[in-house]
Amino acid sequence: MKYIYGPIKSRRLGLSLGLSLSPDKICNLDCIYCQWGSVGKTFAERKKYASADKIISELKSWIQNNPQEFKELKFVTLSGLGEPTLNTCIGELIDQVKALTGCRIAVITNSALLGDPLVRKGILKADLIVPSLDAVDPRIFKQIDRPDAAVKLNEIIDGLIALRKEFHGKIWLEIMLVAGINDDFGHIEKLKNVIQRINPDKIQLNSPVRSTAEKNVFAVERGRLEKIKEVLGDKAEIV
Ligand code: SF4
Repeated sequence: MKYIYGPIKSRRLGLSLGLSLSPDKICNLDCIYCQWGSVGKTFAERKKYASADKIISELKSWIQNNPQEFKELKFVTLSGLGEPTLNTCIGELIDQVKALTGCRIAVITNSALLGDPLVRKGILKADLIVPSLDAVDPRIFKQIDRPDAAVKLNEIIDGLIALRKEFHGKIWLEIMLVAGINDDFGHIEKLKNVIQRINPDKIQLNSPVRSTAEKNVFAVERGRLEKIKEVLGDKAEIV
């Protein structure tokens, strides 16, 4: 299968099936902690990296071959190899997946395109959006997420604030914390101020545990994660 992965059972979502919106890693960031490795370049252009029809036809055959798992499915998650909002057919795909499966839809995004009203409009029919925000300091953002030149941190933050106003589902903001890069308490305080303006339903703190795009990317130790969680308040959880 080219576009389908899983299903995966998680505490957060129950049984969820993943859909990738591109056959290869297509992303406008090149995060140092990326589990897919680095492809050495970033992609800024939005286009049909895979058609909704192709993805839906693969999904139909998965449903046919896995009737029992399909019955238990709680979520279909749009994420996969790279950034799903780079694919211009994401809105159409959400409609078609909902009609076909009746499942709830989660979109996992790196937030890089959320400053674009058209991108936000495309994902409004999802039930859950899990956007990332690893840094609010441009220097740290460049260091950890290595964005394409077209990606602007201030547009990401404004986009997240706008998304909260426009989107009626749940927003779980994810922060990937890398030791020595974005886990300094001065930076965490700045993050906290921005997060208060975004007002997500949850703040999910993560730290790399698998192999990453770069060597020397280290997880934040548990005690420090707990302290960061405390600083960020009741909505924060370590996942
Ligand atoms: S946004 Fe996701 S897919 Fe893109 S480089 Fe970062 S971790 Fe990898």
